[in-house]
Amino acid sequence: MGLLARRTSLPVKVGDVIVGGTAPIVVQSMTNTDTADVARTADQVEALAAAGSELVRITVDREDAARAVPFIRERLDARGVNVPLVGDFHYIGHKLLSQHPACAEALAKYRINPGNVGFREKRDRQFSTMIEVALKHQRPVRIGVNWGSLDQDLAVRLMDENRLQATPKSAQEVTQEALVVSALQSAARAEELGMAADQIILSCKVSDVQSLIAVYANLASRCSYALHLGLTEAGMGSKGIVASTAAMAILLQQGIGDTIRVSLTPAPDGDRTEEVIVAQQILQTMGLRSFVPLVTACPGCGRTTSTVFQRLAEEIQVHIRRQMPVWSRQYEGVEAMTVAVMGCIVNGPGESKHANIGISLPGTGEEPAAPVFIDGEKTITLRGTGLAEEFKRLVEDYVRTHYPPRPAAEPSRDTAAA
Ligand code: SF4
Repeated sequence: MGLLARRTSLPVKVGDVIVGGTAPIVVQSMTNTDTADVARTADQVEALAAAGSELVRITVDREDAARAVPFIRERLDARGVNVPLVGDFHYIGHKLLSQHPACAEALAKYRINPGNVGFREKRDRQFSTMIEVALKHQRPVRIGVNWGSLDQDLAVRLMDENRLQATPKSAQEVTQEALVVSALQSAARAEELGMAADQIILSCKVSDVQSLIAVYANLASRCSYALHLGLTEAGMGSKGIVASTAAMAILLQQGIGDTIRVSLTPAPDGDRTEEVIVAQQILQTMGLRSFVPLVTACPGCGRTTSTVFQRLAEEIQVHIRRQMPVWSRQYEGVEAMTVAVMGCIVNGPGESKHANIGISLPGTGEEPAAPVFIDGEKTITLRGTGLAEEFKRLVEDYVRTHYPPRPAAEPSRDTAAA
């Protein structure tokens, strides 16, 4: 079964980025710095944006953090980093947003978790305050439900109602339904308070793959709000990447999802931008968007005992990533280029022919020569120690000669008027 048509959703404007409608699926990420630390947070936002994050969420958990937000925005603007900032609010978002208008103004979107916006009689008042601030500053919101902080009153009520049914559902099914109902009811309340449906994005995050698929399939069938996809608390390293990819790929294949975040736990001192790269790779390997040319490399086996091809594959991927900010400004369509680095004659020439440019390195016992294929044709054979540098130069030449110059960006209205 191929990709199903994208679900029809309402487009939401977040700063200059459109989420939903016919817009490309947006990659987003979240900082893990203390937001009150303006310098470190601005640096991390800049790094995430440079890696390709099109929206960046920051925690706004206390007064110091709320006070810092406009200064973070100012620093980013001064550096020419215009990525929209999303504020993540829990428990006291109503106070922080209403008492810090500069924070409310600096943020492009507010994330509200209906499960911890306040309890019982305070819930509606505090939720309403946040929506009123959003309306005043003309900002969209994400109503982000999470099963770790699900509205307990709602969950208990649905469990009670379920018990009275002739064929009660399982507790897991009722919890999944409660997540969806919490998101939909909160969105309906936001609309009652004056928000337009195209100012609302919904998410219902869980940490279990099958539950995430079931919850989003249900949510998608019951509304036309734009949807933010993500497996919450996905975990570390390959476990987090595999779980996020498994869950999101199935939903994206069904046309569900307008923006994605991969919630990876970084290793201590690890690179936060990994979550952006994984999100991009999910979308690119599924053929939904292109960001950076991908390197196809064989896994290696007993036919190639040297590590030359492993090193070359890594070197080429790193080189391409480093060059992309320049290439993507200069050349149209370069992000879709494919490069192959293969270990021996068995699949090397064949795979290299499928790529725009590919190299087939010699396996054990083969002649020490590496044929290069360009658009399916063998064009040159590389030998010797300078092979990596020569292949990089060929990739550069390919980019220069195969992708048309990108037209200069139109000056913005502000620049034009200046
Ligand atoms: S291309 Fe050659 S080296 Fe690479 S996995 Fe296949 S047989 Fe092994």
